[in-house]
Amino acid sequence: MDRKRLDEIARDPRMIVGVHNYCDRWCEKCPLSSRCTVFAMEQDADADGGKESRDATNQAFWDHLHDIFAMTKQMITEWAEKNGVDLSVPLPEDVVSLCEMADKQTQEHPLITAAEDYRKKTQQWFASMEETFEQKQWEAENEALMDLPGRDPESAIWQLSDAVEIVRWYYMFVQAKLQRAMHQVIERELTGEDDETGDADGSAKIALIAMDRSLAAWAVMRNHLPDHESPILDFLVRLDRLRRQTETLFPHARAFKRPGFDDVNDC
Ligand code: SF4
Repeated sequence: MDRKRLDEIARDPRMIVGVHNYCDRWCEKCPLSSRCTVFAMEQDADADGGKESRDATNQAFWDHLHDIFAMTKQMITEWAEKNGVDLSVPLPEDVVSLCEMADKQTQEHPLITAAEDYRKKTQQWFASMEETFEQKQWEAENEALMDLPGRDPESAIWQLSDAVEIVRWYYMFVQAKLQRAMHQVIERELTGEDDETGDADGSAKIALIAMDRSLAAWAVMRNHLPDHESPILDFLVRLDRLRRQTETLFPHARAFKRPGFDDVNDC
């Protein structure tokens, strides 16, 4: 992709400015993909380099990222020249140490340690469940062949697969978004500045949506995996607690209007 194409995408009136800022990055399920600049750029990259350009192990992916970086750098340089900003001036030491302090306090905050705990435990549990999921798939396929009256094994396995996919999509995402939200709050506390953009609430809101969906998906998994009810209940409790902690710390998050998603309808 060249600079001209990047400008074309950015100026397309159908695009919603900032729609990608508070989405869940699940582009294949996104109702606003046709109005998103990030998605348009990724589509162009696919057209340039085929599916390989989405694969982080492939050179095409890194070449594409390098092109975007080079174009962004050029745009920043042009903007700085136009606005008389000297980019060579290093950040003052107090700004650097403030950022480091905010990083540390964010990592140590109980909300973030709880989110990290949920991520790690979910990851471990899925790793331990690989065989069970394969067995479930095998059982459903065999049952489907028997075509027993009143049984719908295919639908059951689809429900389970969807639930697994949802939990897997979001378990790392929740931590990342809460970290961003918390970092904003701590940075504002340290500097005494207001969060005029509401970015912390926006990040907290998409984390809450991810938690709501994950809770529903865990509940579906509980129905389909009765032998694993105990650990699943533990995840439900853990995640519900995290959701409530987030709502307490970010009382305005649910009301935050995400560009596109909450303007048009609640996606
Ligand atoms: S807004 Fe939709 S299409 Fe754009 S990055 Fe987010 S999920 Fe993907």
